[in-house]
Amino acid sequence: MGLGRNNVNMKDNTQEYNNACAFRDAAIADGWEHHPTYKLESEDRACSLSKDGWKMMIFTRKLLPKANYYYSVSISIWAPDNLAVQIPDAYNWDKIKNGVNICSECKNNGETFRYGFAGRCCKNCLPKLQEKHEYPGWCD
Ligand SMILES: [Zn+2]
Repeated sequence: MGLGRNNVNMKDNTQEYNNACAFRDAAIADGWEHHPTYKLESEDRACSLSKDGWKMMIFTRKLLPKANYYYSVSISIWAPDNLAVQIPDAYNWDKIKNGVNICSECKNNGETFRYGFAGRCCKNCLPKLQEKHEYPGWCD
């Protein structure tokens, strides 16, 4: 979880908030199934989406309605293989699909492998990331 763009509790970052809302709206316009992630929170704050075996979760929350908003904004995308992919700057289905070839660590293009629960990286980065994320008992 949270291997995508994940900026929690940002202050005054209206741009990032608007970008995430636009990302969600573009995905919905592009035919993604969508529903509120939680029963008691509206879809325009926590939205779960799916398309062709892909899953996306987008949080666009305004936390404190004061003069300066605090935002909790996050986009995560998982391919049909259940591993996370990198998030393009703007919604782009082809770029998202190509994410299965992109290493989360060095951003190189090529074959990718799982590390941890849902991490995706290239062969070169794999030993380093496994050491960092997988230790005895890590998935207990
Ligand atoms: Zn790599």
